[in-house]
Amino acid sequence: MKEFKHFINGQYVASASGKTFENRSPVDNSLLGKTYEAGREEVDAAVKAAKAALKGPWGKLTQVERTKLLNKVADRINERFEEFLEAECLDTGKPRSIAAHIDIPRGAANFKAFTETSANLPTEGFRMDTPDGKGAMNFGHRTPKGVIAVVAPWNLPLLLMTWKVGPALACGNTVVVKPSEETPMTTTLLGEVMNECGVPPGVFNVVHGFGPDSAGEFLTTHPDVDAITFTGETRTGEAIMKAAAVGLRNISLECGGKNPSIVFADCDIEKAVEGTMRSAFVNCGQVCLGTERVYVERPIFDQFLARMKEEVAKLKLGRPEDEQANFGPLVSQEHRSKVKYYYDLAVEEGAKVEIGGGIPDMGAALNDGAWIEPTIWTGLADDARVMREEIFGPCCHIRPFDSEDEVIALANDTDYGLAAAIWTENSARAVRVAEQMEAGIVWVNAWFLRDLRTSFGGAKQSGIGREGGVHGMEFYTEMKNICIKL
Ligand code: NAD
Repeated sequence: MKEFKHFINGQYVASASGKTFENRSPVDNSLLGKTYEAGREEVDAAVKAAKAALKGPWGKLTQVERTKLLNKVADRINERFEEFLEAECLDTGKPRSIAAHIDIPRGAANFKAFTETSANLPTEGFRMDTPDGKGAMNFGHRTPKGVIAVVAPWNLPLLLMTWKVGPALACGNTVVVKPSEETPMTTTLLGEVMNECGVPPGVFNVVHGFGPDSAGEFLTTHPDVDAITFTGETRTGEAIMKAAAVGLRNISLECGGKNPSIVFADCDIEKAVEGTMRSAFVNCGQVCLGTERVYVERPIFDQFLARMKEEVAKLKLGRPEDEQANFGPLVSQEHRSKVKYYYDLAVEEGAKVEIGGGIPDMGAALNDGAWIEPTIWTGLADDARVMREEIFGPCCHIRPFDSEDEVIALANDTDYGLAAAIWTENSARAVRVAEQMEAGIVWVNAWFLRDLRTSFGGAKQSGIGREGGVHGMEFYTEMKNICIKL
């Protein structure tokens, strides 16, 4: 039986209470191991270790030394690629081909990309006049913010956690990570890598557990946490924002989405089908940037819908290690109940189920897993709950539209504002529509094409703040102005 312990001050520790919870496979519901649940005591120890580490050898490293150390971490993840890959696939059930292509390499890359950004981050300088005519010089100076709480979700566990830990450490902070209760494995394994690479104890800490009245709440309400970076649901983001209000701690929130995809009649239809298939169904639809609302210009609506149905029918459900499979289960039984609730609601709200809509028969060995069919609906009203609430499953609604103005209004008619995709070969139209999207990220003839130097984040209820490139550096550092009278 595997045990997933906290990683505090460079050591793996169990909870003093001995409290654990089960980690079950989404593939077949088999027991993968038990995870210790942190109480206030473990969270406090982790935060103390992180605070002390700021004043220890870590705090004295030069930028070049820190860069070398974090590059070593990236290299070591790649050397232990197979172990990270296996752990991620066990926890999430996702196909190995996807995790090998996205989760693990990108998880490692996050440690390299942000050391470069932080090393090359310019600050400002202003010379000012003074009444005595001698003047003064101002210059900006950045220092680490301190102890950063990292609260992470389960859909891309390693990638989304290192997307925060990478820049936090690159800027000289220390971290306490609370991975999702669904996916403890790769974050736990990263502790070993930190020790192997010589990252000083206390710089990277991990506490396991749930949100309310558990590790998540204890961490985000801890007075010695200087800033909180969170990825997850909007409602959880609201709870974290409230927690951060006490003591005026800074927050970075990457939350949910209900992202539109707009397919114009002048698009390359095969490119649009390929991209929309990925944006709606990759990772079993569990991608914050994924598309749940597809708007197709009427002249190509029937053709586009038919092609999407053909492609969905070709998706191959199977175990992570099945090389033919490109579609895994949802992350848990609990999440499947939520997604299935929306599948049933769609029918109640008048949807036509074009394909899918149910729970597949996977055979005796897998039927206890969290499998669900990839699903396409048509015919829902724009105010249906299925059209307005984030489902976070492998499903989308496809609706025809007649004019550019109409589709811009439809796409923006949502509380969320994370991402949008536009499919057109008319570049003037692409820019015109992209500029009017109320979203933090807009792709034209692409989806999930990410340059780590660019900003990432959501408008409206999809979040607060921007990560990526120099934008995250604002959050992970404290800017100081030094004024020298000449
Ligand atoms: P979630 O909000 O349920 O949980 C995320 C993390 O927060 C977990 O570690 C959880 O234990 C913790 N948590 C829950 N309640 C808490 C509380 N009160 N205090 C402190 N911590 C708490 O989200 P999830 O189900 O893990 O992830 C799916 C959601 O994440 C979707 O809404 C998706 O859109 C969003 N997401 C957003 C992005 C983005 O970049 N915008 C990326 C990935 C996922």
